[in-house]
Amino acid sequence: MGKKDIAVIVDERTVTYIHSLETGNSPLLEEMEAYAHKEFVPIIRKEMESFLQNLIYMTKPKRILEVGTAIGYSALIMAEAMPEDCRITTIENYEKRIPIAKANFEKSEKGDRITLIYGDAMEILPGLEAGFDFIFMDAAKGQYINFLPEIDRLLSKGGVLVSDNVLQDGDLIESRYGIEKRNRTIHSRMREYLYTLKHSDQVVTSVIPLGDGVALTYKK
Ligand code: SAH
Ligand code: MG
Repeated sequence: MGKKDIAVIVDERTVTYIHSLETGNSPLLEEMEAYAHKEFVPIIRKEMESFLQNLIYMTKPKRILEVGTAIGYSALIMAEAMPEDCRITTIENYEKRIPIAKANFEKSEKGDRITLIYGDAMEILPGLEAGFDFIFMDAAKGQYINFLPEIDRLLSKGGVLVSDNVLQDGDLIESRYGIEKRNRTIHSRMREYLYTLKHSDQVVTSVIPLGDGVALTYKK
């Protein structure tokens, strides 16, 4: 396990079929997606796009926080579905990606509703004002557990936390010894993250084998 291009959380034919149902995105998003594939920038999986948008249409948030902007693809996906008066704050710590994300936001009509913050989420999160009603966690998987106390502080009651890539390309279900050494720290930290979310009585969490694994958490 470990060295795979595509996760095998769900069998490949099912994923291929689900992807075949997808229709196109806006020219800007299509352009960004092509760029991401060419430059090996990680962006959300196809099946995650409509899932995120559905959640946003259903919850109608006023303040969205994203941890892990990359080039701004998922932020713009969320912006399409959010109410007029909603604002997104998104954090990215890889300097090279900042001007690219900025330029993409400038090309979008909704870009002025997105605030991009450059820095390590570990340092940025404590400085943010609480009251987010939707948080999309999509940064380094091994850090989710470290972000969690701040995420909990920032997330309003009645708010939703969506954590991406929680099944670690299928590695999470393997025993610690069945995966490559370099992935073991992520493995144990992600298990701890999901365990913590599932064992808290403040939240309800569903772990869904969609895309690379999504944890959907509602704060009571
Ligand atoms: N949400 C994006 C993809 C994000 S990829 C999309 O779907 O379009 C994950 C991003 O998180 C990477 O660009 C990486 O540089 C960033 N990242 C990783 N750890 C981080 C941290 N501690 N603080 C801020 N950004 C981080
Ligand atoms: Mg992701």
